[in-house]
Amino acid sequence: MNYGEIRVTFLGGLGEIGRNCAAIEYKEKMLLIDCGLMFPNEEMPGVDLVLPDFTWLIENKEKMVGVVVTHGHEDHMGGLSYLAHDIELNVYGSKLTMRLAQQRFQEANLMNRATFNDVNDSDRINIGPFDVEFIPVTHSVPHGFAIAIHTELGAIIHTGDFKIDMTPVDGRRTDLSRIGTIATTEGVLLLLADSTNADREGITDSEMNIGSSLEKIFGDKSDKRIIVACFASHLHRIEGILKAARKTGRHVVFFGKSMARNVAIASELGVLDVPPDTLLAPDEIDTVDPHKLCVISTGSQGEPLSALSLLAAGEHRALSVSNDDVVILSSQPIPGNERAVSRVIDGLSRRGCEVIHSGTALVHASGHARRSELAVFHALAKPEWFIPVHGEYRHLVAHAHLARNLGLAKERALVCVDGDSVRITESGLEKDGKVSAGYLYVDGIVGDVGHGVLKDRKILSEEGVIVVVVGVDVTKTSVITGPDVITRGWVHADEAEDLLDEAKVVVREAIEGVLGHGSTDLDALRQAMRKSLGKFVSGKTKRRPMIVPFVMEI
Ligand SMILES: [Zn+2]
Ligand SMILES: [Zn+2]
Repeated sequence: MNYGEIRVTFLGGLGEIGRNCAAIEYKEKMLLIDCGLMFPNEEMPGVDLVLPDFTWLIENKEKMVGVVVTHGHEDHMGGLSYLAHDIELNVYGSKLTMRLAQQRFQEANLMNRATFNDVNDSDRINIGPFDVEFIPVTHSVPHGFAIAIHTELGAIIHTGDFKIDMTPVDGRRTDLSRIGTIATTEGVLLLLADSTNADREGITDSEMNIGSSLEKIFGDKSDKRIIVACFASHLHRIEGILKAARKTGRHVVFFGKSMARNVAIASELGVLDVPPDTLLAPDEIDTVDPHKLCVISTGSQGEPLSALSLLAAGEHRALSVSNDDVVILSSQPIPGNERAVSRVIDGLSRRGCEVIHSGTALVHASGHARRSELAVFHALAKPEWFIPVHGEYRHLVAHAHLARNLGLAKERALVCVDGDSVRITESGLEKDGKVSAGYLYVDGIVGDVGHGVLKDRKILSEEGVIVVVVGVDVTKTSVITGPDVITRGWVHADEAEDLLDEAKVVVREAIEGVLGHGSTDLDALRQAMRKSLGKFVSGKTKRRPMIVPFVMEI
């Protein structure tokens, strides 16, 4: 890599919503923008979370001068504490973002592995050779930043997650004028922008409208208890709910560990105003009439062990819900969570609750810009080059099309995916090489459970397993015991005795076939057992369970 050139490598977030992470290299040093995690989907049984592949970063750790975190969402900072196992980190972000990130490090007992640096709106600081500016943006967690990296070739702007809300709850708007100034003074060399809503026309609702809508619902449902579920990090939404509760004379209870933790941090930093006289502890619920209570809960994504899921299952220890309750899902399911969310809505409906969600009322606004907002950003930034980030593949493509429709030459709006690296020199930008950027699955304390393990889990969960055991005398080439067949999740053994007996005969014949040829090679025996039993099972039951052959030498 030449001294003056810039390289951007994408480690996550391009092709999926989650685990956002990009590395910028310049003058032999590296700066990371975000290091997030992704929550697993139903294709990943037993996986707790998914991280970017850190191999390449660890190989280059000598170059790393810092990590800039755009905002306090898990898909942007949730991977930091995992990366800190291998690389000591120097982390930069807003005070709120840093406090949310520190919480994770404290929980993991890793505080000595990172330094946290608070930055203020519009600060411009040097991190190694990088001249980094923190530009305020509006999003669904307060105090988010777009990042501008000023270089002699022009500025690289990374939008982070943003929307253009003219009436945000805290009055802190996306600083469009600064984007315009950078564009007209030094010029925007490369724009990397949020693509989450790039396939949706129009503009995203203002958070202010959600507040008003919630107040109206609270007023209409004055004879019921109200439970509102939203993201624990959506402090503007929580503020809107608190306001609606105050106006309608309701006490407030917070459900869920992350909710209590984030509200505590936000009140301490003055980001959120929680009037202490209205606040109740979960075990004080019975001290007020139901219609004088508002519960603010986690679980809006249908997370299995969250407070809302427990309420839907009738298993919450502080509260059981009924037709005296109105539940508001102040959220939108993240792609992949739709089924979990509908299960929760179903459960609550069975208990008699009235459920209000974004499909039935104005109770949620996205934190991500839609096409008209993105167009405004592009028109102001006037980038020389554009790479869409933060989106599933179709979102990236839609965003690239949008940039081209706005006049950018086709070859200057590049769709990249995880692992792609681009090189920028005076003569332009080009894709240049790839690094490994597969999913790193975390299960419990095991770092990487790997694709093979997940494939096995899928087969086990869908088809079951058959273990077949045989004892062989290798000197006499004869079967001494078995074969025994043990099965789980394939057929119910008690009811399928005949089938299992037939299976044993088939396997025995196969083994004797191999032994009859004078072979005592254990691999050959195992293969014959697997093959004969597999054929028999699929012929008889049209199923393909996992077959585990076991040969004992006696
Ligand atoms: Zn995000
Ligand atoms: Zn976000």
